[in-house]
This record gives sequence, structure tokens and C-alpha cells, in this order.
Amino acid sequence: MTKLSEIIGQAAALTVLKSALPPGKPVNSYLFVGPEGVGKRTAALAFANALFCQSSINNDACEANDACGICVPCVKMKGGSFPDFKFIKPTIHKNKTKEEINIEDIRELIASLAYKPYEAERKIVILDGVDQMNTQAANAFLKTLEEPPGDTILILIAANLNTQLPTIISRCQIIRFRPVPFGEMTRFLMEQRGMDENQARLASALSKGSPGMADMFKDDEKVRAEAIGMLESSLSASVGALYNIAHTLDKKANRKRADRLLPALQELIRDMLVVKLAGKYDNLINKDIAVDIEKAARNYSVRELFKSYDLADEMISARKWNINPLLVMSLLLMEMREK
Ligand SMILES: [Zn+2]
Repeated sequence: MTKLSEIIGQAAALTVLKSALPPGKPVNSYLFVGPEGVGKRTAALAFANALFCQSSINNDACEANDACGICVPCVKMKGGSFPDFKFIKPTIHKNKTKEEINIEDIRELIASLAYKPYEAERKIVILDGVDQMNTQAANAFLKTLEEPPGDTILILIAANLNTQLPTIISRCQIIRFRPVPFGEMTRFLMEQRGMDENQARLASALSKGSPGMADMFKDDEKVRAEAIGMLESSLSASVGALYNIAHTLDKKANRKRADRLLPALQELIRDMLVVKLAGKYDNLINKDIAVDIEKAARNYSVRELFKSYDLADEMISARKWNINPLLVMSLLLMEMREK
């Protein structure tokens, strides 16, 4: 589990959170607010872990500003089995189409808080996505928020302070999270993720201040190699083989991969067009593999490439609408080999 001291780019938030650790005293309700992907969830988990950690009790020479990672609560938090910790997030409930926190979730939470803590001094609850809590649930939740039973600490997480929340906001200490600054992200990627400077600067720029997103660029080259492989096989492979590729991507674990492969494919097709039309490498996105791109481009006509580029565009939109990647990839690969 990530520790508070490992969180980057949130100095202001961390100062407040660390001051709440022993010998400080936490308040009962926090609201972590900030854009998606900048580290609110990671920080909430690290904060809860640090509050449960017994290092400051067992050993006052130990730095009390973070979780130790080795005491019983730390080990159980890492394993997801600490009985006094609860994590609630929006889910798709029966007969519903969008994720939300509903009244049943809140009732269940209230019921669980009626019991005394098992191992810790108090319980800690993280409510992720409170901006997706419906009105009924929010109303039921207010009383708990006003008087959390048994000193419970509630950590609410929201991307937006929307209209539903004023009553909730007024009862919480607000902790703001911001996109991680470019320089700090670049340094982090070089020092902690082993990227070279160019890679790190590029990933940092594309990540829009989200460490999670920046991490995804780590294996970007693998994705690109796979995309080139697909462009090659789309010419020579049988329809059955193409179907198999698409089928693999449809497996749940691979859906994310499909979502990254499509833009990578489109980028390569774009570069192939540039090579064909301009005959120069200057403006290629994937300049470092210009030779491979030129080789691949020889197999396609300009018209085919334009068609494929537009098709990839449509596919990317289709994925945004959650249309089955199997269908999407099959169509793209098969269209590309049509002569
Ligand atoms: Zn510990």
C-alpha cells in the first residue's frame, strides 16, 4: 500500500493530513476533493492506514508521520482484511444502469457502525464517489455525518462539489487535491519509474497531472509494438486469426488494453499517411521507428489508409460508448485487409 510519504504533488493536503496523526488529532469527517486520477483515493487509503498504524504507540522513536507497513494493522490493511476499515464506492445496483451509492449502501454502513470497533480504537470509512450518491442516500447519510458513532472517521471522496453536497460540505474538513505539476511528475517518473528524461517529459505532459495515467505510459512501447504487429497481420492473416486477436482483447482483463491499442493503431496509420504523402519523417509522432512505419506503409494505398484512419476514429468513439471491443477490433482489422 502506498504510504503518505510516497504521494507526490499534494504538499498542502499532506501537511494537513500528517498533522492529524499522533500526537495530533483527526477530525471526524474529511472531504477529499479534486480531479479524477490525481491521488485522492491513494491518499485516503494511506491516511486511514497511518491512523490505524501502531508504530507510534509501540515505539515512540519511530517516525509517527506515516504507516510503518509492518505492524498488525498495517499488514491487515495491505491484505484488505482489517475489520475496522470499510471502503464504499458507487456500484451498479439492481435494475439500474449507472453506478451510484444508494440508500441500501448507507443503511448497511449505518448498521455496521452500530458495533464497537474490533481491533482499533475507532473505525474508519472511506466513501469514494460521494458525488454519485443519490439524494435519498445523502439524506440518510447526513445524520451519521453529523454524529459519527464511536468516534468513527469518515473520509469522503468527490471529483466535484456538486449541488447535492452543500449540507455535506459544511460538515467536513475539505482537503483539496490538484493535478501534479509537470516538473514534479517528470522527476517522479525518472526517479521512481526509471524513465529517461524524454520519456518522462512526454508521459508527464500526456498524463495531465495524474500519476495513475502517467504509469500507464510505462509500457507504451509494448502497446505500440503490438499495434505494428496487428497492422502486419491484418494483411496476411486469415479472417479466423484476426477474429482470435479481437477475441483475446475482448476478455475482461484486456479491455483496457484494447482501449490503448486503438489510439496507438490510429497514430501509426496517421504516420503511415504522412510518410506516403509527404515522404518525410520530420512530422512523425513515432519518429524513432520511422523505418518500420515506411515499411508498413508500402502495403497500403493512401485511400486505404485514410479509410482506416477514419474507421479507427469511429472505433475509438464506439469504445467510449462501451461497445464491445471484440466487435470493434474485428471490424477494424477486417476492413484494413480488404482490398
Ligand atoms: Zn504500522
